[in-house]
Amino acid sequence: MTEPLAVPSSLPQCKADFPIFTHHPELVFLDSAASAQKPQQVISAIANFYAQDYANIHRGAYRLSSRATDLFESVREKAAQFFGAPAEGIVFTRNATEAVNLVAYAWGLRHLSAGDVVLVGEMEHHANLVPWHLVAGLRGARVEAVRMTPDGQLDLEDYAHKLATLPVKLVALQHVSNALGTVHPARELVEQAHGRGVPILLDGAQAAPHLPLDLAALGADFYVLSSHKMLGPTGVGCLIARPEVLRDLPPFNGGGDMIREVYPDHSTYADPPSRFEAGTPAIAEVIGFGAALDYLKALGMDQVHAHEQMLLHYALEQLGGIAGLTLYGPDPAQAQRSGVVSFNVLGAHAHDVAGFLDEAGICVRAGHHCAQPLMRALDVASTARASFYVYNTPADVDRLAAELREIVQFFG
Ligand code: PLP
Repeated sequence: MTEPLAVPSSLPQCKADFPIFTHHPELVFLDSAASAQKPQQVISAIANFYAQDYANIHRGAYRLSSRATDLFESVREKAAQFFGAPAEGIVFTRNATEAVNLVAYAWGLRHLSAGDVVLVGEMEHHANLVPWHLVAGLRGARVEAVRMTPDGQLDLEDYAHKLATLPVKLVALQHVSNALGTVHPARELVEQAHGRGVPILLDGAQAAPHLPLDLAALGADFYVLSSHKMLGPTGVGCLIARPEVLRDLPPFNGGGDMIREVYPDHSTYADPPSRFEAGTPAIAEVIGFGAALDYLKALGMDQVHAHEQMLLHYALEQLGGIAGLTLYGPDPAQAQRSGVVSFNVLGAHAHDVAGFLDEAGICVRAGHHCAQPLMRALDVASTARASFYVYNTPADVDRLAAELREIVQFFG
C-alpha cells in the first residue's frame, strides 16, 4: 500500500488537505457537527485499498485476504491507542446510533425488567433516546430524563437526586451536546453512577472528534462514536467497552464471522469483539477511519481542541455583538463548550436563515438537531447551528458574522 500523504503540522494550513475546498474555493463549511469533510489522506487510503489490497477479511486462505485482514485489524489497534482502550474492547459498528442500539438490545434485553429506569438527559440526541424507548418498552422498564439548566447544562443536582431516588439500572448520557456544544463533566457523571452501582453509557459522537480522550481513565462502561464526524468515512462507528463487560453480553446480530460453532438447531458464539461484528464489515471504510485517526493524531488532539476553542471564542465575540440574534448554550466561563454555536434571528425561521447563508456559500444546519426534548426545553421549534472543525478559520467566522448582520437587518 502507498504511504499516506504527509500531514502539515499546523492547523490553519491543513485546510489544503481537504479537496472539497479546492472544488468549492469560496465554501464556508460550518456543519461539521453533522458530518466532517474528508482529507485527501482518508480518500487515498480508501482508493488505495480498493486498487491494491482489496479482498474479504478473516478468511485468510490466500495472502491478499491476510493482508486485508491485517490492514483492517491494525485499525482496531490504532483506535485502541487513540482512545486509550484495549483493542479487544473495540467493536466496529455502522455508526454511533448502531452502537447505542447494540447496547440497548444486547445489554438492555438481558438486564432490564419491569419497573427499572434507564436514566438519560433532556439534551440527548435521538440516537441515545429512541433505542431506550424501544427496549424499555419490550421489558416494561421506563426512560426518565435528567433536566437541563436554562443555560443548557446538565442539572447535576437533578442527576444526583434521580440516581438516589429512582430504580436506575443504566445511565445513558451524551458527553458533548450536538445542539449547544455543552461539554458535560463526564468523569463526575461516571463516578456518581458507579457510586450507586449503576453502569453508564456515554454518547461520544460529538466528543471524540474534538477532545483528547483517555477512555480507560474515564471509566465509562460503554462509549459510542461515529467515524464520519471525525474526518473518516460514513458507515463506521465504534462501541468501546471493557472486554469483561463485552464478554458478558449476548450477540446483537447473528450470522457469519461471529460464531464459534453452528449446528442446524443452535450455535455458539465467538469471543468479543467478533461476537458483535456479524457479516462482512465496512472493510474499506474502517481502513479509511484508520487514516482519519492517523491524521488527527498527527495534528494532535490538544491542538485540535485549542484551535476550536479559539474559533468558538471569536465566534461568540463576533455574533454576541449582533442585536437581533439570540445565542443558545452556556457561557464558556461557566461551562466547557465545544465549537458549536446555536442561534436564531429575531422574526426569522432558522430554515430561512440557513437558506440565506447558503446563498452566500455558508453551510449551517437548521432544525431540531435530532434533539426535540432539548428544543422544547428551550421553547423554540428550531435553531440554526454553526459548528467548527480543523479546516475552519477566523475568516469563516467573519463571513458568517457579516452575513448575519445583513440577515438581521432584512428581518428587523
Ligand atoms: N449522538 C450525538 C450527540 C450526535 O450528534 C449524533 C449525530 O449527529 C449521533 C449520536 C448519531 O450519530 P450517527 O448518525 O453517526 O449514528
